[in-house]
Amino acid sequence: MPELPEVETFARQLKPALIGKKILSADLRWNRTLAAPSPKKFREQIQGQKILDVGRRAKYFILHLSSLRPGSGQAFSLIIHLRMSGDLILRDSTIIPGKHDRLIIELSGNKALVFNDTRKFGRVWLTANPDDVLGKLGPEPLGKEFTPQWLYSALHGKRRQLKPLLLDQTFIAGLGNIYTDEALHIAKLHPLAASDSVTEDQAEALREAIRKVLREGIRRNGASIDWVYRGGQFQNYFRVYDRVGKPCPVCGAEIQRIVVGQRGTHFCPQCQSVR
Ligand SMILES: [Zn+2]
Repeated sequence: MPELPEVETFARQLKPALIGKKILSADLRWNRTLAAPSPKKFREQIQGQKILDVGRRAKYFILHLSSLRPGSGQAFSLIIHLRMSGDLILRDSTIIPGKHDRLIIELSGNKALVFNDTRKFGRVWLTANPDDVLGKLGPEPLGKEFTPQWLYSALHGKRRQLKPLLLDQTFIAGLGNIYTDEALHIAKLHPLAASDSVTEDQAEALREAIRKVLREGIRRNGASIDWVYRGGQFQNYFRVYDRVGKPCPVCGAEIQRIVVGQRGTHFCPQCQSVR
């Protein structure tokens, strides 16, 4: 499942080719991929829009489109959540659609942006009010508001285990299973430690670890751990994730796996002993 670095990689790689393109039409091939508006309204509203910018918020991929009406100041955003198996592909518009293509956006220049999604969990929104989709998200971990002080007081405002709390997108946005396990290892914090037991120094270490691991993931174009997301290299640099029984890169102890909130969780029992 793509996390922040994988979605950021999609945005960075697609941005140069998408900016300035005009949307000629949209071929919605699986209606439930579209969360809002209705399919009819979607086709009408997206037609003729121009792509002004390409970005990301948390695990959401965003196309910033032109204004609704000239002078209205209101602009549309096309927001895509890839979920389990979503993939974004830019290809020639002449290519015949694939079986799992859920949405094909025909662009000027004989190109098409294709949302392919084998398992159909991905969702797409077209909205003039992005906050309807993104408004409840916690701070962006690479953003300015994610300070050590914020993290310390936010951790103490909850009484939850660290791993599930960091996965909670309303607490902090963009982390998934891989980067959470990696960050907790770097910060030497146990995944089951109580959030309100974390000291100021530990909160600062955790913040640094989260930013370090996300930046490293982005630098390596994300992690490719299954057939969906390709081209990333971060999977070759995992410290704990998916390394059960292998030596911890810091102390050599065997990495262990436990299940926390239904998620496989990997940690070093020696480095991350504090509970
Ligand atoms: Zn260790």
